Amino acid sequence: MVHAIIKERLIILGGSMINKQRKNYLNWDEYFMAIARLSSMRSKDPNTQVGACIVGHDNRILSIGYNGAPNGFDDKEFPWEREGSVMDTKYAYVCHGEMNAILNYRGSRKDLEGAKIYVDLFPCNECAKLIIQSGIKEVIYMTDKYKNTDEIKVSKKMLNECGVSIRQLEIDKTIDIILKND
Ligand code: ZN
Repeated sequence: MVHAIIKERLIILGGSMINKQRKNYLNWDEYFMAIARLSSMRSKDPNTQVGACIVGHDNRILSIGYNGAPNGFDDKEFPWEREGSVMDTKYAYVCHGEMNAILNYRGSRKDLEGAKIYVDLFPCNECAKLIIQSGIKEVIYMTDKYKNTDEIKVSKKMLNECGVSIRQLEIDKTIDIILKND
């Protein structure tokens, strides 16, 4: 399959082969992280938008998700506040991107065994439990801005203990997507 694609992009010119393949294409890590970021743009959270993209061992996308209100909870009624009582702030209600990506998957749970998850922000301890229990074996993230909180320390402890590898994607790239008619 890969061979076939590579051959297709080689042309024979004057007896020598010239590689016509584009040079600036996205590599797999960039592609999946970009999809996680794009998904985060669906979030209605005014402060934090997090996307997640689950990828199988064969580099096929299995599921995507972003943080939001539980299904059926009117977005306009949702308490997006960060300060106040438990009842009036988002934390007890919101479904994180990783949770949604895992639960959005409609195929066999077996497919998640050995999969990887791309997230722009390091997963919290609650999402770490879901990642572990689902069988996902690698977390690839970009930022870790809450690394000094107990929740993130617990998250890392659990992921390490349970054999889920963690990798920070070192990246500094701008991708422009223009949505426009001719
Ligand atoms: Zn979480």
